[in-house]
Amino acid sequence: MSTAPTAELKQKDQNGKIDLTKNSSLCHKCTCCRDIDTSTGFKVKDNFQRFSQKNDIYNRVDWDKSIRSEKTLNFFRNYNTAFARFRDVDGFRHKDYAIRNAAWHITDYTCELKEETEDRREGFLDTYTLHRPGSKNKLRIESSKEISQEIKKIARFLGADLVGVCKFDKRWIYNYKYSRTSHMEKPIDLPTDLENVIVIAVGMDYETIKTTPSALSDAATGQGYTKDLSVILSLAQYIRNLGYQAVASLNDTALSIPLAIQAGLGEYGRLGLLITKEFGPRVRIGKVFTDLPLAHDKPIKFGVEKFCSTCRQCTNACPTKAITDGKPSDVIHNKSNLIGVQKWSVDAEKCFNFWVNTNAACAICIRVCPYNKDYSKFIYRIGRWLAGTFLRKLMLKFDILLGYGKRKLPNNWWNKNKN
Ligand code: SF4
Ligand code: SF4
Repeated sequence: MSTAPTAELKQKDQNGKIDLTKNSSLCHKCTCCRDIDTSTGFKVKDNFQRFSQKNDIYNRVDWDKSIRSEKTLNFFRNYNTAFARFRDVDGFRHKDYAIRNAAWHITDYTCELKEETEDRREGFLDTYTLHRPGSKNKLRIESSKEISQEIKKIARFLGADLVGVCKFDKRWIYNYKYSRTSHMEKPIDLPTDLENVIVIAVGMDYETIKTTPSALSDAATGQGYTKDLSVILSLAQYIRNLGYQAVASLNDTALSIPLAIQAGLGEYGRLGLLITKEFGPRVRIGKVFTDLPLAHDKPIKFGVEKFCSTCRQCTNACPTKAITDGKPSDVIHNKSNLIGVQKWSVDAEKCFNFWVNTNAACAICIRVCPYNKDYSKFIYRIGRWLAGTFLRKLMLKFDILLGYGKRKLPNNWWNKNKN
């Protein structure tokens, strides 16, 4: 399988600016892409194409007749409680949607702030512009290593659980954004001299995720995004206050997972998500693009790839069989997959169909993943270490035998620790 970069491709133009207009993007004059791909485990092939945001499954509801229906539109309407459809089923009652939509509120509200006036859905289709002017004077930076350490400290102070830094890699930047106002693609508007990406992650609530599928468990996702939003907006403002450029980004503009892996936050898992050492796949990712001169982190390995080759917990538990049983491959399921990368890919159409039918986002694959543990407990840290050794099969057996990953009743969450 060839991973050699194609000839045409360059990250920067003659003026030293990052050229975001070309579809493909490997640098042919250096080996940095190949080196980083070897460390991340992603095999980027000759036919690689940058992803267009238009093909994101959520945006396809806007333009793709094969996905768009009253039912799929209703799925999104439910995030506005005035239009939510509750039912008398544990986890899908009035209170479950009330907490779910409250947890999403700040992220959704900020997303819609500039939609009508500026055609921006910030955080999901467009980067954030909710900033005050920063300093006109640049703080003098003596050491990129020291400022990186300081930035990580600040990010944690602002609420990040995990933080890392990687080099800007334009392969993971969308080739076009999408406008739900014009129903058209639109150009990426990132400044072209932001050479570094700070990637942060926050852990999602363990107890509510255990209740998935439920509207209640989707509150953990909303809460995760809202925490992310607070961190990246504040962190970007801090960097602006130092006199440098900083652009905060949530799910918009770039694929977060490969950047998070490059920044050393975790490994890629069969379920198509980042698996971190600290929270497993139970995280939400945010990023800040910046020209602050920063030292880069390196990808980490703690045995996930080998463990996923043995384990099928997510594949077996997925109600729509959206998660592959096979080896990493570049075969795509549909237009929502990335073209030209050999990896485990999820069938987003099947996945989203389940979300629409249950009327709430699902996280079963996260719930059942053996890496989804509370690693503040020593015993689980031992288990994680063993999962990275030749005892991984035994670990998996124990995990199944002890019933980890089983669904908990949403009602029990509501009734627990009331006093
Ligand atoms: S979120 Fe649910 S439906 Fe989607 S891949 Fe995971 S388990 Fe399957
Ligand atoms: S459930 Fe198992 S196979 Fe799936 S991502 Fe987690 S460890 Fe990997």
